Amino acid sequence: MTRAIRPHPGIEAIAPYKGGDSQIAGRDDVLKLSSNENPTGTSDAAMAAYASAGHRLHRYPPSDHIALRTALAEVHGLEVDRIICGAGSDEIIAFLCQAYGGAGREVIHTRHGFSMYRISALASGATPVEVPEVERIVDVDAILAGVTDRTGLVFIANPANPTGTMIDAATTARLASELPDHVLLVLDGAYAEYVEGFDGGAALVDARQNVVMTRTFSKLYGLGGLRIGWGYGPAHVIDMLNRVRGPFNLSRAQLDTAEAALRDRAWARACQSDNARMRTWLAVALRDIGVASDPSAANFILARFRDDAEANACEAALRADGILVRKVAGYHLPECLRITIGTEADCRRVAASVRRFKEGAS
Ligand SMILES: *Cc1c(COP(=O)(O)O)cnc(C)c1O
Repeated sequence: MTRAIRPHPGIEAIAPYKGGDSQIAGRDDVLKLSSNENPTGTSDAAMAAYASAGHRLHRYPPSDHIALRTALAEVHGLEVDRIICGAGSDEIIAFLCQAYGGAGREVIHTRHGFSMYRISALASGATPVEVPEVERIVDVDAILAGVTDRTGLVFIANPANPTGTMIDAATTARLASELPDHVLLVLDGAYAEYVEGFDGGAALVDARQNVVMTRTFSKLYGLGGLRIGWGYGPAHVIDMLNRVRGPFNLSRAQLDTAEAALRDRAWARACQSDNARMRTWLAVALRDIGVASDPSAANFILARFRDDAEANACEAALRADGILVRKVAGYHLPECLRITIGTEADCRRVAASVRRFKEGAS
């Protein structure tokens, strides 16, 4: 076979993304807590909008996304012209790498950072650069030390996945102000909705020319299956991202459903407060069984075990009980398991299973 036809070198370096497992052979009572999905599903208003979009499948969707952008601007107090929508925030991340990465450039991500940063950087031809964290928390000084003349982008998620930890607004602002002029800082706010009163970094975006925020409908809004995300940035950046964006990158079903979900504020608030309550409950329940976790600001807990072997054994025990959680060895956290916060019944099922495992092991 000829090897004359080859992609650019970055493509062959990509280790394809692996999603959370969703099935266990022979079981129909599987509790999927491996992908940080909303345990209660999707709001009725959003599902109605989705159904109604089915009547206009022969029409191209709007390409300016103005209705969804207007709703986002109203709900979050943002400037409508500096919002861009995409097929999940993954697509916004890809646009950012296409525009500001590329051959000869470096893209910084942190040691336990979300894997799509590396994948999208490589896909663009850029070189991903990993910098350390301190005790599973993003370290701004390590990021600054990793910057070179070739750095195009810095990605951090705040709160972070899979650690669930956060850095505060003053620290984020220091990072933005100490980065050299040629570097764009991306604040991935996939879990920002879970932090009471947190703007995801929007105020910092407004205050500066070198910060972009990405957000998603996949987590709090329970729309991971439909693929809708968005970004907010300075006008010069949004202009470039819109050049990369395909005109019909979102279908009407995506646009209408996201808008309806966003406007159902009561549903979103209820999900946020249920998550906060059950997150505390699960952290305490696990701690009482001898499983530590860092305070999480997101919709999951990173449970820490004695070592890799205990984490793997607990994952297997949970699986035997029909519960799927996420192994995170690929994020340099082999002694940990990431567990999505479920409903109260889900969390009780997890705690009971981990307790049986711990009692059996001791
Ligand atoms: C889940 C997640 C996203 C969201 O991805 P979508 O493409 O919007 O579904 C983005 N960043 C992080 C860190 C995530 O965990």
